Amino acid sequence: MSRIVYVNGEYLPEEEATVSIFDRGFLMADGVYEVTAVLEGKLTDFPGHMARLERSLAELDIQKPAEFDDLLEIHRELVRRNDVVEGGIYLQITRGAPGDRDFAFPDPETTKPTVVLFTQSKPGLANSPAAKTGIKVIAIDDIRWGRRDIKTVQLLYPSMGKMMAKAAGADDAWMVQDGAVTEGTSNNAYIVKGCTIITRGLSNDILHGITRAAVLRFAEEAQMQVEERPFTIAEAQQADEAFVTSASTFVMPVVEIDGATIGTGTPGPVAKRLREIYLEESIKAAV
Ligand code: PMP
Repeated sequence: MSRIVYVNGEYLPEEEATVSIFDRGFLMADGVYEVTAVLEGKLTDFPGHMARLERSLAELDIQKPAEFDDLLEIHRELVRRNDVVEGGIYLQITRGAPGDRDFAFPDPETTKPTVVLFTQSKPGLANSPAAKTGIKVIAIDDIRWGRRDIKTVQLLYPSMGKMMAKAAGADDAWMVQDGAVTEGTSNNAYIVKGCTIITRGLSNDILHGITRAAVLRFAEEAQMQVEERPFTIAEAQQADEAFVTSASTFVMPVVEIDGATIGTGTPGPVAKRLREIYLEESIKAAV
């Protein structure tokens, strides 16, 4: 059975779904995206992802597509049609296809945004083996543009970062700017020192992770201390624990940073507990 995807108002088998070669997402990375996790066949943190999507569109002056208010139904329909139990839904909205290439934005009256959604079924995601062993990260320079708070589809450098990690025998990379860690290539980064969880504060330097917001809320509810401030790779290497968060990995322990073992070299109690709480609470609140 081929996957059913959504493109500009239609549900189609993936082989039949197309967008124009003039689409500004394709030509200029002029588009934004969201990834919403599916657990037990339901959407997690959905309102948060939609709020960030609306903000990303507004920051780039991309008009909201006609189906904006129907996005929950479209997500649900794709989950249903593709029988997704665990995995995610990828959603992308671009400024559309004006019929030629030009740097200037097209007139939104005549060029409508392109809307694409597809499912990624990942059975076993919540029970991932990597969460049991933890992952290894390397440090790389953060050379991305200055508006990382907007979730754009310009993912070339994060892709290169993942390849640098792979070449170094690691799983992912943490990016460093002016001596401090910004975030992971596709996740937010944290360290734990004693009873305190330390993570960089929100600014244009990082993506405002939806999982980050939920995890920090759960941490505070569980009486854990949270400190939002920059930290260095050296400080991280001396930490008791480290972890990352994202909609596709939830809370993922980090056990090695640039060759240095973190804590005991196995997932620590704070990361393990936060993963449990996150999975439990987000399934409860899923829609
Ligand atoms: N930072 C970056 C650079 C990301 O790409 C992502 C995931 N897309 C995150 C953080 C985590 O965000 P979220 O928890 O909303 O998935």
